[in-house]
Amino acid sequence: MARLGPQIIASLRSTARFSHPQAAFRLPRARAARSKGTAPATVASSTKSIHADRVFSTSTPSVSKSTVTPRSRLALQTAICTIFLVGLTEYLLSSRAAGNISTTYASPAQLKIAIDELRATFPDPKAVVTNQDELQTYGSSEHSYHPASPHAIIVRPKNTEDVVHIVNIARKYRIPLIPYSGATSLEGHFSGYPSGSVCIDMSGMDKILAINGDDSDLICQAGARWEDINQTLKDNGIPLFFPLDPGPGATIGGMVGTGCSGTNAVRYGTARAEWFLNLTVVLPNGKVIKTRRRARKSAAGFDTTKLFIGAEGTLGIVTEATLRLTPLLPTKVAMAQFPDIQQAVSAVQAILNSPQGPHIQCIELLDDHSKSSRLFLKTTKLFSNMDVTVMAAINNAGLVDKAYPVEDTLFFKIQGDAVAIENTAKVIKQIVKKHGSMQFKFASTDQEADELWQNRKYALMSSLASHPGMRCWTTDVCVPVSRLPELVYETKKDLQRSNLASTIVGHVGDGNFHALILFDRDRELEAVRGAVHRLVHRAIALDGTCTGEHGVGLGKKEYLQEELGVNTIELMKNIKKAVDPLNIMNPGKLYPDEDSIREH
Ligand SMILES: Cc1cc2nc3c(=O)[nH]c(=O)nc-3n(C[C@H](O)[C@H](O)[C@H](O)COP(=O)(O)OP(=O)(O)OC[C@H]3O[C@@H](n4cnc5c(N)ncnc54)[C@H](O)[C@@H]3O)c2cc1C
Repeated sequence: MARLGPQIIASLRSTARFSHPQAAFRLPRARAARSKGTAPATVASSTKSIHADRVFSTSTPSVSKSTVTPRSRLALQTAICTIFLVGLTEYLLSSRAAGNISTTYASPAQLKIAIDELRATFPDPKAVVTNQDELQTYGSSEHSYHPASPHAIIVRPKNTEDVVHIVNIARKYRIPLIPYSGATSLEGHFSGYPSGSVCIDMSGMDKILAINGDDSDLICQAGARWEDINQTLKDNGIPLFFPLDPGPGATIGGMVGTGCSGTNAVRYGTARAEWFLNLTVVLPNGKVIKTRRRARKSAAGFDTTKLFIGAEGTLGIVTEATLRLTPLLPTKVAMAQFPDIQQAVSAVQAILNSPQGPHIQCIELLDDHSKSSRLFLKTTKLFSNMDVTVMAAINNAGLVDKAYPVEDTLFFKIQGDAVAIENTAKVIKQIVKKHGSMQFKFASTDQEADELWQNRKYALMSSLASHPGMRCWTTDVCVPVSRLPELVYETKKDLQRSNLASTIVGHVGDGNFHALILFDRDRELEAVRGAVHRLVHRAIALDGTCTGEHGVGLGKKEYLQEELGVNTIELMKNIKKAVDPLNIMNPGKLYPDEDSIREH
């Protein structure tokens, strides 16, 4: 089929009011319904009514015969003709977008009209923000050094229906829409789009809607934080919890977005296990879907829930989720220290493969940053007045009463009844001793266990707190557990050669490795970037992945093709194009840029 050139499309558009086709025909009905309070109560019915707005109105104004003059007939014919041409343009534009991910976005004038329309749709001043400082803050992250732009507007929905309105306006004017929630992601996931983006701040949608204790599930809005969910269960005396534990402050929507996990993944797996039973999602076309029902298992078709896990807000906006919960078991913490990582990892493999393996909830590695590294830093007088190991960082940050020896350290969480915990602790002690551990500590009280564990969970904060004024680039990769020592040794050598101070922590039970690279001057940033780049290639070469849990965002998209292959990337892009042909949902993230895709 012949394609229309951009000039023809532009001139067709200019025949429609506001130089944008849908503006003339779609806006009033949505707003009228809202202002009259006729917006439907349920999501399903609201979808129907809101979606009806999105398509062109087929009912032309009713004109009584007696009032039809040749002039008004001509006007009517012109209007119908315009509607037809505009519809054709839309169709051609979207078929063009299906061949290539579209990047045609609103002009500054259209952006301004959209902002006005968002303001009119959400008259509560707290729901819409255009303050420059906030736009800047929401468009970037203190944890990321990837390119960022301020958003054009921040909108704060209260429910699914609000999200539908925001999506419809963003689509109508073709404005990038960036979901934002706990803002703890680390790879530039929610940074603003340069031509102007709508930031949809989901953090206010944080209600727990239902707790079905007997069925071990919970329904909540997407802005609910995992820590608040677990605290609420505890406060209500419900002995269940949600086991995914990413960064402090992360929310369900963001956790779906990044496909997160955390320290508990050894026993409970990641977001890709079935912890999200059902998601309510607003698609880029404004339709609302539920991916499943509340039943614990379902074989009804392929798993559309998974489509959104790790999609980083590029396929739709999650507004509600049904979470699977699991029994809260008695837990104790143990710690063992080793002369080197190889021995620590061998111990981990032996423990996980023992009959007591299923009682292990987490195994975390905190590095000693190797003795040679510290010697190197001292002799080169670089950072000579500071110890850069995580264990030292924890000691220095003043978060613990008693300093720990600075060695490669494993932290274990053991779960079960008293007998199971005792037996497992005994087996761990025997195995770590066999693998050269000089020190084993078992927290005998809950308080001691909590304190010991907090040290691990707040490793990033400890690293920063013990190095005032320094900044930190956090990155993660994951390899088969047996390849972890090689990865750690090579990476430490590389970081030393690059004169970079770093600490290393890992969810070692899963082969997941985090480097926290510290720096204080901008000119060191390039060296950090280079070290991260080499780390990622090293991990992929070891049959690993560029990210075990933090996700892709802007920072890792250039590695996806090397990791997954060109055909897998093509499949991902085809799904994106089918779901979001105008590419309005979080553009620029996750999918490798066209020019970086090459056949191997
Ligand atoms: C100190 C620290 C420790 C961390 N430890 C871990 C860890 O152990 N394991 C781990 O996995 N991660 C960890 N992280 C990273 C981070 O916590 C996770 O990536 C988390 O899942 C992000 O959730 P969030 O609510 O902050 O999402 P955000 O940062 O707000 O958003 C993340 C992505 O999801 C999208 N998104 C947000 N809300 C929605 C929605 N409602 N619908 C669709 N898309 C949406 C965003 O557009 C973005 O692409 C850590 C971070 C920090 C700062």
